[in-house]
Amino acid sequence: MTQHKGNLFILSAPSGAGKSSLYKALLEADSNVRISVSHTTRAPRTGEQHGREYFFIDSSSFLDMIAEDAFFEHAQVFDNYYGTSKKAIFDMLDQGLDVILEIDWQGARQVRALYPDAIGIFILPPSMKALEARLIGRGTDAEDVIARRMAKAVNEISHYDEYEYVIINDDFEVAFEQLQAIFVAMRTRTPLIREIHSDLINDLLS
Ligand code: GDP
Ligand code: ADP
Ligand code: 5GP
Repeated sequence: MTQHKGNLFILSAPSGAGKSSLYKALLEADSNVRISVSHTTRAPRTGEQHGREYFFIDSSSFLDMIAEDAFFEHAQVFDNYYGTSKKAIFDMLDQGLDVILEIDWQGARQVRALYPDAIGIFILPPSMKALEARLIGRGTDAEDVIARRMAKAVNEISHYDEYEYVIINDDFEVAFEQLQAIFVAMRTRTPLIREIHSDLINDLLS
């Protein structure tokens, strides 16, 4: 596989654990990081914008994109389709940007199979009680939706050890520092340095 100049990160967690809050803080703090904007068939929540949180499309358009092989990976989650388009990530990786995929464990498995250099990070809540309190506190989902997300949380959490890194999002600042540290460290990995700094390496070795 060609070595891209940026790193591909997979960020997974049960709904409400703090994925979005953490990656949004990272995007503000680190100009080298981008989020991949997924396509979904679910309806936008209040405040969500087409092209920012997701590209909101209908099922038939989604199926067309599957047929055109436009997706890097896709999955069905909570009765809706979600997918990462190839275009959404490879252009940015080639430019040397780090790209975050906010996807569930099914998508993570597909991505690892397609792109073994992807770096998986799993976010855990400090307790189930805290998870539920956050979903309620976020105020974006109806009671029945929250109940379904809580019911699905244990299943999602059971896959935590398929990821290279695990962050417990109890104190937000601590969790955020851990996330930043992972991104910084990954930029010093040897294959990446060999690619980005080939002139320097050649110079030093000549
Ligand atoms: P949240 O879990 O409350 O942040 O709600 P979202 O609607 O933003 O995400 C719902 C689920 O879809 C999460 O588990 C995401 O990780 C997953 N997801 C989002 N985008 C993608 C994608 O492009 N591919 C895959 N496989 N999963 C995705
Ligand atoms: P996800 O994207 O994983 O569904 P969010 O980032 O939307 O989760 O977080 C869910 C809710 O919990 C939000 O209202 C957010 O402000 C809150 N939250 C996130 N991290 C923490 C934390 N460490 N302590 C308390 N509340 C948090
Ligand atoms: P939500 O509807 O709350 O935005 O997302 C629901 C679930 O779908 C989350 O668990 C999220 O990780 C997952 N998800 C979002 N986008 C994608 C995607 O592009 N691909 C896959 N496989 N899952 C996604």
